[in-house]
Amino acid sequence: LDYTEYTNNHVFVQNGRKHDAAKQLIGNALRDRVENIDHEFCEPGEEDTFFVADLGEVYRQHLRWKLNLPRVRPFYAVKCNPDPKLLELLSALGTGFDCASKAEIEQVLGLGVDPSRIIYAQPCKTNSYVRYVASQGVRQMTFDNADELRKIARLYPEAELFLRILTDDSSSLCRLSLKFGASLDSTDKLLALARELGLNVVGVSFHVGSGASDPGAFLKAVQDAHVVFQQAASHGFCLRTLDVGGGFCSDRSFEKMAGVLRSALDEYFPAHSGINIIAEPGRYYASSAFTLACNIIARRTIEDVSAASYMVYVNDGLYGNFSSIMFDHQHPVAKVLRAGGRTLYNTPAAEATDAVHGIEYSIWGPTCDGIDRISESIRFPVLLDVGDWLYFEDMGAYTMCSATTFNGFTKDHDVIYVCSEPGAKALLGLH
Ligand code: PLP
Repeated sequence: LDYTEYTNNHVFVQNGRKHDAAKQLIGNALRDRVENIDHEFCEPGEEDTFFVADLGEVYRQHLRWKLNLPRVRPFYAVKCNPDPKLLELLSALGTGFDCASKAEIEQVLGLGVDPSRIIYAQPCKTNSYVRYVASQGVRQMTFDNADELRKIARLYPEAELFLRILTDDSSSLCRLSLKFGASLDSTDKLLALARELGLNVVGVSFHVGSGASDPGAFLKAVQDAHVVFQQAASHGFCLRTLDVGGGFCSDRSFEKMAGVLRSALDEYFPAHSGINIIAEPGRYYASSAFTLACNIIARRTIEDVSAASYMVYVNDGLYGNFSSIMFDHQHPVAKVLRAGGRTLYNTPAAEATDAVHGIEYSIWGPTCDGIDRISESIRFPVLLDVGDWLYFEDMGAYTMCSATTFNGFTKDHDVIYVCSEPGAKALLGLH
């Protein structure tokens, strides 16, 4: 992989802006799709929500990862977005995969990925899935309690086990430690039990919570993991891998987070220790690569003495790809893609939300539920009506994977792939 190529793009990442050529590609794909849809005549479904995915963005994120965390091998967390092309590119880039279920493992194995590139990172596993992974030769898996150890001893004693420890995830968007992770008070006993059961503990894992914002959480978790490595040695285990989990965001906080993690690793698990370091990033790789376009299907005018405002209803919502609002605590920002027959993507009019003079809108999903609201209040300098289009950037993480078909709306939306990086195109055999 060409790091100099990355360094050029890095300027854009640092500025919080997307690569200009990438923006243009995404814009063309959005425009080509929507400009010929006439809501007065189209067939049901033609005006459906759709994604544009820039695989080049995934490639840039990978280079950015390698630059900032060169010692840490990413195992992409498939749960975040199991899009087949995204997985294909990551497989070609040589990442591993963090899977949470049989279906995810099947999907990754179906790409021809070697079982050694998979970690079944679910501390509380289904019996039949454990038997399945045993039959497929997927050996790496996590545990955090004694019952699970006994289950593994019965079903798959040859498994390579990672003891998942508790972290302070209080600064994260989605807390995981309420549900998973062994406290440092319990790790010694668990290691003793693993020894007694003749199991093969090979590493320690943790997760600082999805969408973490406190780099200190990584430092503390690495320190705790170091303690557990020493405990394991006292039980006769020679641990060889540390798994630092996910939690990384794709915005500018990544460099800071990675910097703290890098120094913590260098201090507690220096390169000469020979310990392998892996991670399970999900959001970091998927979020910024996907842009979602939604059609305005209905509008309600709210007359007021001073000015009219509008409730607009789009054909995707909290029960669909905006499930991220509910489950992932996101606040997707609408931009105007097409209004009054004009495509505005990436123009000042699309980018502008005119807080003072603009027209006020609230944006609602298509279901009958009052909770299905995407935006309470946003102002645009343009008048929107039925048939117009909105777009939302950074919609790749925890969106389509947790969508439902509530009210009979489809959750299988088209994804139009573009690729703004020649390196990624070459890997995928695209021209
Ligand atoms: N690993 C595990 C075990 C997880 O539960 C999750 C998310 O829930 C991830 C990795 C991915 O986290 P993120 O998307 O924050 O990187």
